[in-house]
Amino acid sequence: ADDLPHVSESDPTAKALGYVDDATTTKDPKHKPGDACANCQFYSGAATGYGPCQLFPGKSVSAKGWCISHTPKKA
Ligand code: SF4
Repeated sequence: ADDLPHVSESDPTAKALGYVDDATTTKDPKHKPGDACANCQFYSGAATGYGPCQLFPGKSVSAKGWCISHTPKKA
């Protein structure tokens, strides 16, 4: 939930996945405009703030964040 510790961009897993707290700051060419944790199928939090991601057990990621494993949520 929202009280899980936030993933740090310097966390080894975060670095390996190119995680950023703000999707608009990534320079990774895999990022598509509009993609963010909030619309990723591995994210189970609210549309704003922070929430759990299956790839970061025990941590929470920013709804506005992004990483290279982003997979669009199924409609
Ligand atoms: Fe965000 Fe999805 Fe990456 Fe998790 S897998 S950090 S929800 S983009």
